[in-house]
Amino acid sequence: MKELEERIKADGTVLSGDVLKVDQFLNHQVDPDLMFAIGQRFAQLFADNNITKIITVESSGIAPAIMTGLQLHVPVIFARKHKSLTLTDDLYTANVRSFTKQTDNQITISKKYLTSSDNVLIIDDFLANGQAVFGLLEIAKQAKFNVAGVGIVIEKSFQPGAQKIKDQGIRLESLAKIKSLADGQVTFMSAE
Ligand code: 5GP
Repeated sequence: MKELEERIKADGTVLSGDVLKVDQFLNHQVDPDLMFAIGQRFAQLFADNNITKIITVESSGIAPAIMTGLQLHVPVIFARKHKSLTLTDDLYTANVRSFTKQTDNQITISKKYLTSSDNVLIIDDFLANGQAVFGLLEIAKQAKFNVAGVGIVIEKSFQPGAQKIKDQGIRLESLAKIKSLADGQVTFMSAE
């Protein structure tokens, strides 16, 4: 998605540890027009898949997920991050290691919002090692709903998450694919 790549070039900052900071439009301040366009693109890509619900992880997945839900006219559920839980009977839970914070989180979704007849689209802001997506796939296994695909705003293609998702035979659509963040420079796959 050209508009997104241009915005990353203009406003993204490369931090150490192969982290791209995009607080200007996605992770802190949010650009609603860009988010709307992102939602429109995901909605087009999955228009024929009979999606019934979108799931994401709080907090940065919520903006792109809600804009996609708006245009597919389906509810959006965000998994909550909890450190520890005692009462988990009515919750689906999975463990996720945070890429940026290097901490372990438990993510949870209430059982009442997902059923085995749902056809779900997973949306997230970034894809690095795939921990967040695999946490949501673990919840899919528990709840027995189908995952129609995964939509990612910014895929860091040089990290293992993308290949791991594709290796599972799951459809992956990423709107910007980053080939490298070496030397503080953002290089896109599309630049090849
Ligand atoms: P993964 O679970 O695929 O290893 O990492 C994805 C999650 O970590 C995303 O939900 C995002 O919050 C965070 N993340 C991973 N890489 C980056 C990055 O380069 N920049 C930012 N801002 N967040 C990232």
